[in-house]
Amino acid sequence: MKASPADIDRTRGLEERTERKQASVYDNVTRQFDKAADLVKLDPNIRKILAMTTNEIIVNFPVKMDDGRIEMFTGYRVQHNSALGPFKGGLRFHPAVDIDEVRALATWMTWKSAITNIPFGGAKGGIQLDPFKYSYSELERITRRFTFALGNNIGPEYDIPAPDVNTTPQIMAWILDTYLSTMPPHERQRCTHVVTGKPIESGGSLGRDKATGQGVVFTIEEWAKDNGFELRGATYTVQGFGNVGSWAARLMNQHGSKLIAVEDVSGAISNPDGIDPDDAVEYASKNKGLISGYPKAKPIDRKTLLQTQADIFIPAALENQITADTAPLLKVKLVAEGANGPTDPDGDRVLQQRGIDVIPDILCNAGGVIVSYFEWLQNKRSEFWELEEVDCKLHKKIVSAYARVRDTAKKFNTDWRTAAYIVALSCLERVYKERGIFP
Ligand code: NAD
Repeated sequence: MKASPADIDRTRGLEERTERKQASVYDNVTRQFDKAADLVKLDPNIRKILAMTTNEIIVNFPVKMDDGRIEMFTGYRVQHNSALGPFKGGLRFHPAVDIDEVRALATWMTWKSAITNIPFGGAKGGIQLDPFKYSYSELERITRRFTFALGNNIGPEYDIPAPDVNTTPQIMAWILDTYLSTMPPHERQRCTHVVTGKPIESGGSLGRDKATGQGVVFTIEEWAKDNGFELRGATYTVQGFGNVGSWAARLMNQHGSKLIAVEDVSGAISNPDGIDPDDAVEYASKNKGLISGYPKAKPIDRKTLLQTQADIFIPAALENQITADTAPLLKVKLVAEGANGPTDPDGDRVLQQRGIDVIPDILCNAGGVIVSYFEWLQNKRSEFWELEEVDCKLHKKIVSAYARVRDTAKKFNTDWRTAAYIVALSCLERVYKERGIFP
């Protein structure tokens, strides 16, 4: 699977995105953290602990390519905090993966688990590579060798990876198989919860594929109720049409809302009369996962997508998309952050000044980690839950997290992102105070 024209387009997007990233994502986390920690007067000692990661693992490892060459890869796993439970967070395969990005993503995972009352800590990892440049069997060997290189730095009761950008249930199955193969035979059957987001037959949970998009839509429903806003007939735009973006789009469609523009790495398209998300997903599935060339919409540029007048914008791609430069372009009432870190602190300020509501990432996209937790529990108990049970439990958890953040925003008279941080930091502060610091 070497570069076809579609792949070249995709690669161009990735390069562009790498340039766009420029600003340190971890600096954004630090600025968000400082704002909330000041406001809630976080204990200075606990502040020192939470401002740092616990472990940062970097592995360089060789992989044999299809043509017999050896290529070296760099993989990361950052474990931010485990006060509430085992480290938990996705793995990303992308050329822009670096220690700064992984640190930021790991830290957000800690806050996310704390906000949703899940007994997990925060971690994240990935490999710096463009997965579209490798064949299927090369990707399998890269994944397996990365898992082997991580060794006991991951584990079912210690650190549990999951899918993220460009990683799939298939990749999780390879991680599972590799991890189990390195265990003594009598221990293998009790370790299937070493990774979540697995294919169903390999121990995955029903509802995990749509969980993050489902969570995004559950939080939008709550926002609509709070604001007396009618979702039927509402318009929305989506940036990123992968796992999170496509599921959020499909589930919004079930409310009778209308998708009018969508962007992925191959470009953006629009149709004011509405784009059928199910049809667009089917088209993309036959077009290497890309929406470019979709015949029932017209191509637009990225700026036009951001300027499209709609009720709701769902960023579901990468970080630093809504900045001081792009936030003034948005003509929406609500930004529901499916992606991690799509808005930088300067972008946040502009959105606040313009009265645009934001459901922040660490609340909005928490559906993924919530259902990962359900998958982990099912594996530990050798259970298999019905989809209704998964959806119902997800709804309960994310709606109560939403209410905690909303009420905290009111109490502290602050924006929702800062409120979400306050919920997380207050929870972690309580735990550290109860337990004290060893020795
Ligand atoms: P994915 O790989 O399935 O999809 C990513 C999408 O973004 C693709 O459609 C891709 O074409 C698009 N994209 C990439 N670069 C782009 C660019 N420069 N401009 C526009 N679109 C671009 O990944 P995903 O799992 O859907 O993750 C998307 C976001 O959601 C990430 O920020 C991820 O961290 C976050 N997230 C994912 C999960 C999950 O369960 N998968 C959970 C929580 C948060």
